[in-house]
Amino acid sequence: MTPESILKKQFGYDNFRPVQKEVIDKILNKNDALVVMPTGGGKSIIYQLPALMLPGITVVISPLISLMKDQVEALKANGIPADFINSSLSISEKNEVFRLIKNNHLKLIYVSPERLVIDSFIEFLKNLDVSLFAIDEAHCISVWGHDFRPEYSQLSVLKKHFPNTPVVALTATADKITQNDICKQLNIDKSNKFIASFDRPNLSLNVLPAKKRYEFIRDHIKRHPNDAGIVYCLSRKSTESIAKKLRKDGIKTDFYHAGLSAIRRNQVQDDFINDNTLVICATIAFGMGIDKSNVRWVIHYNLPKNIESYYQEIGRAGRDGLPSDTFLFYNFGDIILLRKFAKDSGQPEIQLAKLERIQNYAEATTCRRKILLSYFNEHLEHNCNNCDVCENPPETFDGTVLAQKALSAIVRLKENVPSGVLIDVLRGSMRYDITSKGYNKIKTFGVGRNISNFEWQRYLLQMLHHGLIEIAYDDHNNLKITDPGKDILFNDKKVEFVKQISAEAFKSKKEKIQNIITLPENELFEILRTMRKKIANENHIPAYVVFHDKTLKDMVALMPLSYEAMLGVSGISEHKYKKFGEPFLQKIIEYSKTQDGD
Ligand code: ADP
Ligand code: ZN
Repeated sequence: MTPESILKKQFGYDNFRPVQKEVIDKILNKNDALVVMPTGGGKSIIYQLPALMLPGITVVISPLISLMKDQVEALKANGIPADFINSSLSISEKNEVFRLIKNNHLKLIYVSPERLVIDSFIEFLKNLDVSLFAIDEAHCISVWGHDFRPEYSQLSVLKKHFPNTPVVALTATADKITQNDICKQLNIDKSNKFIASFDRPNLSLNVLPAKKRYEFIRDHIKRHPNDAGIVYCLSRKSTESIAKKLRKDGIKTDFYHAGLSAIRRNQVQDDFINDNTLVICATIAFGMGIDKSNVRWVIHYNLPKNIESYYQEIGRAGRDGLPSDTFLFYNFGDIILLRKFAKDSGQPEIQLAKLERIQNYAEATTCRRKILLSYFNEHLEHNCNNCDVCENPPETFDGTVLAQKALSAIVRLKENVPSGVLIDVLRGSMRYDITSKGYNKIKTFGVGRNISNFEWQRYLLQMLHHGLIEIAYDDHNNLKITDPGKDILFNDKKVEFVKQISAEAFKSKKEKIQNIITLPENELFEILRTMRKKIANENHIPAYVVFHDKTLKDMVALMPLSYEAMLGVSGISEHKYKKFGEPFLQKIIEYSKTQDGD
């Protein structure tokens, strides 16, 4: 059988994605490989498919118990004999798995790195026919990677014990230094490095000012009541408070952060995976071990600390390739807090530089996807047409006079006030703090009255972005004027500002667009989704292991009325059809009859 026919028969897919086939050929020719591919890119098939074609067993090294479980369930659903060995198993369960391996009943075995390097386990493997080693999350092997794990670094012994067994290392995040380090440690020839595009065109990218962000989130969820999504927050406290507010507004939601007990965390994660809770408010602790393919939106309540984390977090949306939305809320307060974190971190220069890059992204006035991809050294030729900047190209205007008003006030206030006080002075506030200090006596008091507090915040952000002002984090966050700022104030230099669009205006625009392009809730899709949930519950597996959203959508689009037609649907393998397909076919036939009379 060819790789293509196995792809169709076992996984139900018609075509390989870029890079998959090339690497599979390498592996089948007994070569090693390093694969860098974004989350959702399709890394698993790269070793699962050769595992089926090669004679012996494939050993997959994976760092997380929950990931192993997910993958093994998905394989079993496709009729592929696979299992895992980790600390969640009882002794007798472990013995049973060892027995299956010895009797050549398994094609894939998932183990943790700690388990793999135990001498007795290596000896056990040496007595078997090991076809392939697959190292998932391979960036953990390198101290340069962003998630180094000491137990991974011992994996370099693999080549010593198994010089003739190919090794494939896979990761979603590795910069050049990390890639080279992985190759070096695992003795992978650099010519066998495969890097897939990091573009995820199905994710819409939107950045919004943080004002009224709660209302925006609530309305977004209400408009998509059947969609799963994650609200990422900076603090544990805000995960709890937002979840509480959403519940008050009638939305079923949970919160997740590292302060919860392990049992509670597992519970929340399981409920999310199984579509019991669709909305989770979480810190970035949530998501590492989640393969859920039908996350339809990810919202960042706060600015993330760098582009790598941001990209990984939004990458949890839309793994199935269907359109999914991401929103990032951006405000002044977050920057102040994140700058403080960066300064207090072990590597202030690097962290501050990284923070600046994500600020640039958030302030972008050109296609956001271009900026993101260029961060990963990839260059998109055309604008993406799926980001808020492409959809609403910003209008600019001459902001020189506005900037001069603010800069002049900063100078007259002796660079001794933070942004909030500055805005109050510009807007002519008579609150006690202002008058008691005599700030109402300065010449620029009230010169910016006609501009709202919110708009001033946004213009100050732009001034910061243009380098006209600085925030003195070590001096009460007071604003200071820079040399380029002085050029604007004293030397007739000009500056352009971007007109601001509020979250509300954005929302109504987006709603209009969505009302035009999205069909009314599809009846058949809902019928099939309900059926899927029932089958998933009966089998104690996540709904997306039964069929992905994409597969259900395909059924709705193709309306297959026979066994053969069902096999033409993306994601339905013969085995899967036998296991789960029949009731779906029946529902589609039933539904098609009700439509005939129309
Ligand atoms: P990764 O591990 O890279 O994050 P996965 O291996 O989980 O990604 O794959 C992501 C999704 O893409 C899964 O739903 C998978 O079944 C699907 N997929 C993988 N390869 C293909 C393909 N060639 N055609 C269609 N879907 C695919
Ligand atoms: Zn764009």
